[in-house]
Amino acid sequence: MHDLIKQAAEDLVAAKYVVALTGAGISTESGIPPFRGKGGLWERFDPMEIAHIDAFMKDPAKVWNILVKEMKEIVDQAQPNDGHNGLVKLEKMNKLQTVITQNIDGLHQAAGNTDVIEFHGNFAWQRCMDCSKKYETREVDVSEIPPRCDCGGILRPNAVLFGEMIPSGALWRSRQVATDCDLMLVVGTSAVVQPAALMPVIAKQTGAKVVEINPERTPLTGEISDYLIKGKAGDVMNRIIEEMGKK
Ligand code: NAD
Ligand code: ZN
Repeated sequence: MHDLIKQAAEDLVAAKYVVALTGAGISTESGIPPFRGKGGLWERFDPMEIAHIDAFMKDPAKVWNILVKEMKEIVDQAQPNDGHNGLVKLEKMNKLQTVITQNIDGLHQAAGNTDVIEFHGNFAWQRCMDCSKKYETREVDVSEIPPRCDCGGILRPNAVLFGEMIPSGALWRSRQVATDCDLMLVVGTSAVVQPAALMPVIAKQTGAKVVEINPERTPLTGEISDYLIKGKAGDVMNRIIEEMGKK
């Protein structure tokens, strides 16, 4: 692994335009469970079903009880970890321009990255399904499920559920930066949720190096990514940054 850490440090030092694509794995060390992988919600239910817009429309109380309420409790408390902080250090070193995140937890912004594209929206707000009024998630009273708007409408996360469109601005900009970058760091994503998983493919096809950080292999490994640094985001980021300091 040490050789790959050195390689990543060298590649970052040489790169002119670095973009990171992150997924749920970068936030596991902040106590937020991922969907897939070890300890993921997948072990308890199928997220594709429960986090799907059709499931929400059919039975909002069920989705609130199984997913949204728990997510709210966890995300309300979560703090950035060394993985997020490492990406902030890279930005300060002028070695990271943009973060595309599939996460909805707001931790990249909390850590201090300034250009974050929220591919799947965010969980900071809930919106009324009838009148679209927004409520800060932190302030939503969950003593009655599903929580409701003043108008009586049901509240839903203002994030993108499976089966819904990616916000067009986020999709457009992500494609742009994936095309323009010369190095993409892919951190903590299983790379199976589309179209997010397409961004490393675009980067690769337009000449960028693609470097994965993940304890497990993904469909990108050995196909799209130049190499996989097998490990946890926080530890690997710390080691890469330490190595860059020696250069
Ligand atoms: P995923 O749950 O499908 O996969 C998580 C990946 O992270 C796996 O490949 C796993 O091996 C890896 N991983 C686990 N621990 C890690 C660590 N310490 N360091 C680095 N990698 C680690 O995640 P996904 O690809 O982001 O897709 C899931 C979808 O669900 C996304 O759209 C996302 O919006 C949503 N989601 C978000 C959050 C969040 O906001 N924190 C949490 C769960 C799910
Ligand atoms: Zn309303």
